[in-house]
Amino acid sequence: MDLGIGGRVALVTAASKGLGRASAIALAQEGARVVICARGAEALASAESELAGSTEVLAVAADVTDPAVPAQLVAAAVKHFGRLDIVVANAGGPPAGRALEVDDGQLEAAINANLLTSVRLVREAVPHMRTHGWGRICLITSSSIKQPIPTLALSNAARTGLWAWAKTAATDLFPEGITLNLACPGSHATDRMKAISLPPGPMGEPADFGKVVAFLCSEPANFISGSTVLVDGGRSVGLV
Ligand code: NAP
Repeated sequence: MDLGIGGRVALVTAASKGLGRASAIALAQEGARVVICARGAEALASAESELAGSTEVLAVAADVTDPAVPAQLVAAAVKHFGRLDIVVANAGGPPAGRALEVDDGQLEAAINANLLTSVRLVREAVPHMRTHGWGRICLITSSSIKQPIPTLALSNAARTGLWAWAKTAATDLFPEGITLNLACPGSHATDRMKAISLPPGPMGEPADFGKVVAFLCSEPANFISGSTVLVDGGRSVGLV
C-alpha cells in the first residue's frame, strides 16, 4: 500500500530511541523527510545516522518538555525544509507511582510533559499545516488511557487529559484537512519498559508500532480523526 506521504515533512519528538525512533523510521521508509529531537547526543546521532540512510533528516538536541522548545522545533523544521506536514508528538513517560503516593510537583511535571508538550507542538504546527490545507498529527500516549494502570497514576492522569483536549481539537481541525489521532501503546520492548518493570506479558515490536503511526499520518487515513488506536496485543479489556 502506498501511504502517499513521499516528500512530506514530519517532526517526531523524543525520537532517538524506542517508539519515537521507530515512528521516525517508518515515516522515512514511506519517503517522508524527518526532523527528530531528543536530549542525549549519542543516541540522537545514532538515530540521525540510521535515518540518513533512507531520507533527509534534521536532528535537534532539545528537551521537548521545555515550554519554549516546541516553537523552536517547528521553526527549525520550517526553516530547514520549507514546510511542516506531520507531527508525531512524543515525550518520555513519567515515573511510576500509585495515586495517593504522587505529589503535586510530580503531577505538574507529568502534565507538562505528557499533556502540555503535545498541546504546544500542535498549536505551533497547525498554522503551517493550514497553509497547505493538509496535516497529520499523531500523539503517542498509552493504553493506560483506556485501562488505567494502578502503578502509573501520573501517566493515567496526564494522558487522559490530553485525550479530552485532542478529541476537542480534532473536531475543529478536520474541516481544514488536518487529522489528529492518538496512538496508544501497550507493552513494547523499549528502554522505558525495562525502567518501569511492569508484569511480564506479550510485548509488541517498536517497528510495528511505528508503522501504525505512519499509517495514521498517511493519505489514506484521511477520514480517521479523533481516534484512539490501541496497539496493545488485545490486553485492554474495556469496551470503550
Ligand atoms: P524510551 O525507549 O525510553 O525512549 C524515549 C525517547 O524519548 C528517547 O529517545 C529519549 O531520549 C526521548 N526523550 C525522553 N524525554 C525527552 C525529553 N524531555 N525531550 C526530548 N526527548 C526526550 O521510551 P518509549 O518506550 O519509546 O516510550 C515513549 C512514550 O510512550 C513514553 O511516553 C512512554 O511512557 C509511552 N509508552 C511506552 C510504552 C512501552 O511499552 N514502551 C507503553 C505505553 C506508553 P533522551 O532521553 O536522550 O532525551
